[in-house]
Amino acid sequence: MRRSQFYIPTRRDVAKQESVNAYLLTKAGYISQIAAGAYALLPLAVRSLQKIEQIIREEMNAIGGSEVVFTALQPQETWEKSGRWNDPNFRQIVYRDEEAGMTFGATHEEPMAIVVKEKVQSYRELPVVLYQFQTKFRKELRAKSGLLRGREFRMKDLYSFHATEKDHQEFYEECAKAYTRVFDRLGLTSYRVKASGGVFSKEFSDEFQVICPTGEDEVMLDHATRTGFNKEVEDSMTAEQKKTLERVKAVEVGNIFHLGTKYPDAFDFKYLAADGSRNSIWMGSYGIGITRLLGVMAELHNDEFGLKFTGSMAPFEVVLIDLTHEHTVGDELYQTLTNGGLEVLYDDRDEPAGSKLVEADLIGVPVRVVFSQKTAQEGKVEVKDRLTGEVELVAKEELLAVLRSKLSR
Ligand code: ATP
Ligand code: MG
Repeated sequence: MRRSQFYIPTRRDVAKQESVNAYLLTKAGYISQIAAGAYALLPLAVRSLQKIEQIIREEMNAIGGSEVVFTALQPQETWEKSGRWNDPNFRQIVYRDEEAGMTFGATHEEPMAIVVKEKVQSYRELPVVLYQFQTKFRKELRAKSGLLRGREFRMKDLYSFHATEKDHQEFYEECAKAYTRVFDRLGLTSYRVKASGGVFSKEFSDEFQVICPTGEDEVMLDHATRTGFNKEVEDSMTAEQKKTLERVKAVEVGNIFHLGTKYPDAFDFKYLAADGSRNSIWMGSYGIGITRLLGVMAELHNDEFGLKFTGSMAPFEVVLIDLTHEHTVGDELYQTLTNGGLEVLYDDRDEPAGSKLVEADLIGVPVRVVFSQKTAQEGKVEVKDRLTGEVELVAKEELLAVLRSKLSR
């Protein structure tokens, strides 16, 4: 991408806020607040979120998920049927339009069960595993943590339908493993934490938590096994666990639930077993907070100059800064690197050197490549690692190979 054509509205006028991620991401031109808990996602954020989503997509496809896009709008009557329309817990968080008889998707159990019922009748057609990336709406009371807690936010939600409880349990464990792979690939150390089922289920659920001093959750962690307990289920811990596990603040990046047969039963969605009996269907739901993940990354990876993102989710892997005015070397290197498969932001503008360098640090691109008249004459470019601060001079011909190895590609 040529910087001269790519919109990056970095800002200097941002006041320090309660939320570190909102402050940094606004300053770096990723987001713009529309209302409390509602943010416009600007080009850099869109690119990062697409990369995060692609990692999740690959892992969800690998466990047999099929991607769908459902509507945010859901009819009142389906929520009445499942009993959620009048459930005080949901009344509190769900946006609704009584006049139109609609609710705005806070979660999608109802339409998923209804649509799968249209086709699936026999055990031979199960399991069905559907997932989507979608905008969710929730009336969060304290939407003060930037992307960590939106009233409108992006989520990956997956729903699974199984013939037996055992099938459900097996898939649930597969999905838990896939979640760990997702967070590993994003460079986050995640912990599988036992938690309450919240408003979704009476059973325990499993949360995926990332240690973060500004997080809202309090968890007790076992670092060796990367498991733990949410404070809300402290009573289920043994005395030994209470003594030895470390108590820290964390952010929940994913959550998986056993829903039992509740939603399929509410819509009389059953299947015919091999022996001819008509049985209930077991359902699970599995969420990952997409925009929240970008928020966590910003909370965890920054310094006084701005964001420090990793290649797996940074909007670009390399920022190429041309400090000459001819752009001959720049155009050539840009071609070489993009043809070599790297995601490059090429700063081809005639702006002062200082402002180009400052912007590159602020937006958090992991590797910066700079060349001036002087280095270009020597056939060299300067490569700086944003994460370690390391600087080296590299011959032009070796640049692609050096960057590939730096980015582990
Ligand atoms: P929390 O406990 O943080 O309120 P939740 O348990 O209500 O979240 P789920 O319904 O399980 O959340 O949603 C799945 C995932 O979506 C969560 O693990 C989280 O990463 C993300 N998420 C939930 N609520 C929000 C929100 N208000 N803003 C951003 N992301 C959210
Ligand atoms: Mg939760």
